[in-house]
Amino acid sequence: MICEIVCVGTEILLGDIVNTNAVYLSRQLALMGISVLRQSVVGDNNARLTEMLKQALDRSDIVITTGGLGPTADDITRDKCCEVMESSLVLSEEIKEEIEGYFVSKGLKMSESNIRQAYVPEDGIVFRNHNGTAPGFAIEKNSKCIIALPGPPREMKPMFEEYVRPLLRKYSTATIVSHNIKMIGIGESVMAEEAGSLLDGENPTVAPYAKDGECFLRVTASGNDEDEAEEKAKPIIEKITEKFDKYVYGIDEENIESVLVKLLKKHSLKISLAESCTGGYAAKRITDISGASSVFDCGVVSYSNEIKNKILGVNAEDLKKYGAVSEPVARQMAEGIRKLSGADYGVGITGIAGPLSDNTNKPVGLSYVAVSDKNGTECIEIMTARHDRDYNRYVNGSRAFDLVRRKIIKDYERKAEKQ
Ligand code: ATP
Ligand code: MG
Repeated sequence: MICEIVCVGTEILLGDIVNTNAVYLSRQLALMGISVLRQSVVGDNNARLTEMLKQALDRSDIVITTGGLGPTADDITRDKCCEVMESSLVLSEEIKEEIEGYFVSKGLKMSESNIRQAYVPEDGIVFRNHNGTAPGFAIEKNSKCIIALPGPPREMKPMFEEYVRPLLRKYSTATIVSHNIKMIGIGESVMAEEAGSLLDGENPTVAPYAKDGECFLRVTASGNDEDEAEEKAKPIIEKITEKFDKYVYGIDEENIESVLVKLLKKHSLKISLAESCTGGYAAKRITDISGASSVFDCGVVSYSNEIKNKILGVNAEDLKKYGAVSEPVARQMAEGIRKLSGADYGVGITGIAGPLSDNTNKPVGLSYVAVSDKNGTECIEIMTARHDRDYNRYVNGSRAFDLVRRKIIKDYERKAEKQ
């Protein structure tokens, strides 16, 4: 199985940007046992791109392009890939809605040209873009496969991981294993910086990603069989978990709530939630996990100040003095719900989820999350700087769950280890 990489962009030809996409893709494909025959670069030019794609498809089974999927007139890859594969572009209402949602979430105005990005090949597989607007795609026809990915590396790499790697597995001769080491409470760039030379390995490779306010390092190893690949991955996974110990909530775990529910169950502990800005979303996430009834006591959605005071006992003076989105209020919400329910952990969440600000001077994306237990109350401030309501609400829940997780590890797991 022979593969060829075609990077599209005049700025690469001019030397304005370094072609790191080709480096990344070649490395990943080699690891999968897929031979890369050529790497080429072509400018944003209709005739030259068509010619290049035709030649590439003639001599290779798989052609992967990056770049030129944007909304502007010089973004021609989508059209040219369809042309050479004799496929038509059709409007995807689903992708159109997603692109519109993306602009709303960023508080930006969408231009008409962005609709171009909602056109996808009628007989292709569409790759959603969680980090931008342009979807990628694959067209498989007559034993040839063309794969188009966006140019920006921060969009291209997650798309490769989520869609392309699984798709190419059938062309692969090696056995590949991948493990995601998931973290909360550290930013992607800090994580990548601290990972340092761990990111330079060839087998396994380690790649950083960020999604929904979480970061993860994906370790991918290749071997003749699964055992050999796992053996290669193991020492690097150990190094990473040791280095990022505080932040790692799980390896290959689905999400933080399932990890938390497992831990609470293991130690026969209970949790209760007092939610303001998350409006019950955190409680939903916990109760989405089967068997949550043995660990989840109750949730109160205390949206108004009056209920924060009446039900949770938050001091009316403090509400007035510091405002509902403040550390003292988050703490008192956590303490109040713990007292009300008798659970081991009381959680308080208050913040400005956006997209609009409340009537105070506080910025959108500012939240306070507090956890109260028998040893006292801890509170963290979160500033996402995003005007995305869903995102902010999701992150608040995750950070609260992670705070409880850390407490359980410290008080129940590490203490037991020491004894
Ligand atoms: P956009 O929607 O941002 O226009 P696109 O898919 O059309 O995305 P391009 O316009 O070709 O992609 O490139 C956008 C940016 O992505 C470039 O300015 C550059 O920063 C980065 N980029 C593109 N191609 C590469 C590459 N081969 N290697 C590294 N970075 C790249
Ligand atoms: Mg572009």
